[in-house]
Amino acid sequence: MNKEKIWLSSPHMGGEELKYVNGAFEDNWIAPLGPNVTGFENDIKEYLTQNGSSDIEVAALSSGTAALHLALILLGVKRGDEVICQSMTFAASANPIMYLGAIPIFVDSEEDTLNICPHQLEIAIKERISKGNKPKAIIAVHLYGMPYQVEEINKISRKYGIPVIEDSAEALGSKYKNVHCGTLGDYSILSFNGNKIITTSGGGALITKDIQAKRKAIFLATQARDDAPHYQHSEVGYNYRLSNICAGIGRGQMQVLDKRVEARRDMFQFYVNLFRKIEGVRVFEEPSVDYFSNHWLTVIEVDELKTDGIGREELRKCLGTENIESRPLWKPMHMQPVFKDYPYYGTGIAEKMFRNGLCLPSGSNLTDNDRLRIEKAILNCLTK
Ligand SMILES: *Cc1c(COP(=O)(O)O)cnc(C)c1O
Repeated sequence: MNKEKIWLSSPHMGGEELKYVNGAFEDNWIAPLGPNVTGFENDIKEYLTQNGSSDIEVAALSSGTAALHLALILLGVKRGDEVICQSMTFAASANPIMYLGAIPIFVDSEEDTLNICPHQLEIAIKERISKGNKPKAIIAVHLYGMPYQVEEINKISRKYGIPVIEDSAEALGSKYKNVHCGTLGDYSILSFNGNKIITTSGGGALITKDIQAKRKAIFLATQARDDAPHYQHSEVGYNYRLSNICAGIGRGQMQVLDKRVEARRDMFQFYVNLFRKIEGVRVFEEPSVDYFSNHWLTVIEVDELKTDGIGREELRKCLGTENIESRPLWKPMHMQPVFKDYPYYGTGIAEKMFRNGLCLPSGSNLTDNDRLRIEKAILNCLTK
């Protein structure tokens, strides 16, 4: 097998990343602060508010996980507190709950967006309150770029007075009712890891509407140093700020973000057309015009009762023999060994999707030839 590997999602440079990185070298800003960091924050802020949505503040950080950790701290989450988290997600959504000694309460997905189910969320909140443990926060995720049911979730958040942390790590460029994901929660987070829609090699951001909260986040992210000529600390801090080099990559990537969204959406359309010809496979589309997904990854559900018994694992292996990467959906957190003993509210939607769902190669840098190979491999496997 000497065919070149087709990746699920790989970094795609193309703007003026090196110009900004070179600038950092020339000015010797090789540090977790500098003009690229401020510039990158402004670029993100400008991008996310381009439809005139409410004012936001952006803090560039070393990862999306760090941003989630700080969001929980800023909401006052402490040891023994309960925090609700969408079960079907990447472990990074839930791990920061554990860093604080808090207790994760997992909630199932609904079928339309694959994100946190409003109905199960409300059941969970009511039961936790009846046990005397009102949850401190709700972590909701826009999985694979698809916005969660924003209005329904916000309504529940207001009704019970529990803030939402919007995990928008996979959804930069997505919108709900024409408002950017990343501005829809009480706190929101982004990720710029290597496989995301744009990357800084590693990085993230915390987004808030409150300038004081941004200042506090940066204070905590830079070792919580008090205002004094010597090193003075009255709180425990972290080393979570983004480096000026990585931020330089981010500035170049922001210039091409809209193109990257367009290319991912185009890849999605390719799969929609392809699977029209094939029985038994559902491509996950936006449920209504209120939803605009960046289609970071295209997701399908395989119904082996209609595909002559070929399930998602067989399809994944077929693609693998052609050196084409595909991957099962995130394994739900309540099924993970590390989280299995924590409460879970649901009816098995996430479990079913984990069993039958597959993410297909969706990178913005896939070529026409890659598409031909993917199409041939899928047709070979499913229409024998
Ligand atoms: C990638 C990701 C994160 C974490 O971001 P990092 O920058 O890798 O720390 C969090 N949540 C989700 C849903 C992600 O996909």
